[in-house]
Amino acid sequence: MSSAGKELCYIGLGSNLGDSKKTLNSAVQAIQSIPSVEQFVLSSFYQSKPHGPQDQPDYINAVAGFTTSLEPIALLDQLQAIENSYGRVRSGAQWTARTLDLDILLYGTHEINEERLVVPHPWMTRREFVIYPLHEIAADLILPDGSLLESYLDQVSDDTLIKIKSSL
Ligand code: ATP
Ligand code: MG
Ligand code: MG
Repeated sequence: MSSAGKELCYIGLGSNLGDSKKTLNSAVQAIQSIPSVEQFVLSSFYQSKPHGPQDQPDYINAVAGFTTSLEPIALLDQLQAIENSYGRVRSGAQWTARTLDLDILLYGTHEINEERLVVPHPWMTRREFVIYPLHEIAADLILPDGSLLESYLDQVSDDTLIKIKSSL
């Protein structure tokens, strides 16, 4: 729970267009630069196969954790501003699809159901590219519903998940 108005948050980062590693590294720096984001930790980067149509590039994903005094919607605003800054690449005369996805996975032990924000992220426990990097930085994590993060490791296949270095 909160301590001195701060919450421990976890964010999922993902990209599958453009120079994904460079984009994620830039996004990490941007997140660390948000005022009131402190005690920042970052998982390794992971390469994963797309869950939907296979005719798209592999994804690079990571999970970051930090404490913040920002309210949930204020944090979402900051993350969406970063998505907008780093998340698009120019393709010809038009701006292509987003190259960066920043999702709030957990905000302390809060459960949030608002139009713009649902936390815990509804799909997080079914996504290997969330569960494995999150477990790397928060092995003993307990979710707001009381379940153990580690209990989900065996429920998602990591067959196509490759841990990679996070350097540029
Ligand atoms: P998915 O939720 O399956 O990962 P996505 O990340 O690709 O989908 P986006 O296009 O990035 O979806 O976001 C769509 C909307 O989801 C955002 O405008 C945002 O308001 C809303 N949203 C709801 N819950 C969250 C959350 N926990 N983190 C980030 N955005 C969220
Ligand atoms: Mg997402
Ligand atoms: Mg998103």
